[in-house]
Amino acid sequence: MKKKVFYFLFTIIISVLLAGCSANNDNQSSRTDISVVAAEGFYGEIVEAVGGDLVEVMSIIDDPNIAPHDYEATPSVSKAVSKANLIVYNGAGYDDWMEKLWNASSNNENIKRIIVAPDLMGVQPGENVHVWYHPETMPKLANELAAQLSEIMPEKKDTFNRNASEFISSLQPLNTLIDRLKQSEPVLVDTSEPVFDYMLAALNFEVNNPDFELAIAEGTDPSPKDLAAVQSDIKEKRIAFFVNNIQSDSPIIQNLVMLTKENDVPVIEVTETNPKGKNYVRWITDLLKQMEKVMKEK
Ligand SMILES: [Zn+2]
Repeated sequence: MKKKVFYFLFTIIISVLLAGCSANNDNQSSRTDISVVAAEGFYGEIVEAVGGDLVEVMSIIDDPNIAPHDYEATPSVSKAVSKANLIVYNGAGYDDWMEKLWNASSNNENIKRIIVAPDLMGVQPGENVHVWYHPETMPKLANELAAQLSEIMPEKKDTFNRNASEFISSLQPLNTLIDRLKQSEPVLVDTSEPVFDYMLAALNFEVNNPDFELAIAEGTDPSPKDLAAVQSDIKEKRIAFFVNNIQSDSPIIQNLVMLTKENDVPVIEVTETNPKGKNYVRWITDLLKQMEKVMKEK
């Protein structure tokens, strides 16, 4: 990630130098890219899709080894935010550091913001923040990006709009898969954490252990009663599968995963952020295919 930060700053320096050159060389117009900072890599990817080569995107959290809920910004990230034209972050308490950096920037009236969870999905602090798993989020983000980038560079409005619709079309195979997987009647599942719940809801899977998953997400111990209920869901095969966020390392969850194996209950492995080398469509498609395989074998 350090390398990327360096690259970004390097690009800014070069842009400034080039801008300086063209100012000296009569009135030849110099094109400076729109600089965007995205808190999460999966949003940065959509910025790149809509902005194309007119934007320079810096994505902060794009490594599955970084714990996104606990991330703390470095001075170079703070500098990048203060120089950005637009910042994109999840909000609703997921990445408060981004909010703080924006507040601390002296020129923040010039830095546009897209706060995905509250602005586009109506999700408030205390609610499930993992909106990137909601099938409607990325199309909404693409359209909002086209609108905001067009305000920054009005002469490229058509390009941004076209890029946004191309991106939305590229999600079609994913939507086909979602339609195919949608259950006609609610089907019970248990989860280790609420990470994947928006997609589960879209597919008509019903989370049977909401208090348990919330306790794990908040880093507290689930009540003995809630734990016993999940154990019994597994032993009695009351659930179609168990959804496990493999980025967490709770011993309670590890024991439950062992219990699923002993009882032949399938486990769907999810991650909070996209695995390295998988773009958004690939990432979600692979998850849904895991689920499709499990549902076919039932
Ligand atoms: Zn999370």
